[in-house]
Amino acid sequence: MTTPIDILIVDDRPENLLTLEHLLDSPELRIVRANSGQEALARLLDHDFALVLLDVQMPEMDGFETAELMRSNKRTRNIPIIFVTANHTERQHIFRGYDSGAVDYLFKPLDPQMLFCKVRIFLEIHRQRQALQAKTRELDARISELNMLQAELEKKNHQLQLLSSLDGLTGIPNRRQFDEMLGVEWNRMAREKLPLSLIILDVDHFKNYNDRYGHLAGDCCLRRVAESLDAMMRRPADMIARYGGEEFAAILPGTSIEGAQIVAESMRLTVAGLEIEHADSPVQSVVTVSLGISSVIPIPGCTSSDLIQAADQGLYQAKQAGRDRWVRADCVPVACKSPWS
Ligand SMILES: [Mg+2]
Repeated sequence: MTTPIDILIVDDRPENLLTLEHLLDSPELRIVRANSGQEALARLLDHDFALVLLDVQMPEMDGFETAELMRSNKRTRNIPIIFVTANHTERQHIFRGYDSGAVDYLFKPLDPQMLFCKVRIFLEIHRQRQALQAKTRELDARISELNMLQAELEKKNHQLQLLSSLDGLTGIPNRRQFDEMLGVEWNRMAREKLPLSLIILDVDHFKNYNDRYGHLAGDCCLRRVAESLDAMMRRPADMIARYGGEEFAAILPGTSIEGAQIVAESMRLTVAGLEIEHADSPVQSVVTVSLGISSVIPIPGCTSSDLIQAADQGLYQAKQAGRDRWVRADCVPVACKSPWS
């Protein structure tokens, strides 16, 4: 069952109020009475009326004055009013009613049919307005719910992006992130005409390590190496990534070949300094790394692949020369201008 709708009836004569109440009697309506303009205004403050039936002729404050006061109040301004008057010959009165915001008129003696029709129209308007307000509230709730979902989704996406850019085993950036950042830094260094250095390193005889100590120990070894290398990245743009199985790569923007050599030597010493036992290594009794270094000021016609190829070449030479060392290799294409030549 729907909530009854509140209607205010105002008349200075109790018998008129009784008649109105009788005529309006319906389970869908709740009638509130007032026997003066002042009382009507008081009732208006604590109810939400769909309609006011307002007697025009009342002592002290008449219907028009009451209506004017209603219209001057923000809360009661839009409540429809039906003036009830015996004075239907005075046109002047009717216009006065419209001036104060009247919506309709009824003449005494009341014609029940007419009263019923007019009240019904206003009730219908009231119902439609309420339905509209409910819909608006529902839509507002939906919108804020959608906003919350969107914020949650963005957060999840961000987490996902972060996860998809990190290597699952070591927690440092993965190959995908490496490729992306190398592209970004390549373009940045091209604009700023600064050298971009790259170090690619490989854990020496890692297959032997896995064969002897097992894959779990191998994973643990890679994690420790990654962690120590990552801790060496001091500048915000420096980045170490897991490049492949036991290969790592460091992007060092704005770093000269001399600077990169210092970093590479430091990496070599740091990994050896971890003193991870490697009994089956022909190089040392602990885990060591071999490194290839290359550096270039990016210019048109030269690509980051050339830089990778050069560092790879350096790594290959370091391994050929007995491992546990670094070798620098020049970026080959003619278009690339080596900063040290
Ligand atoms: Mg009266």
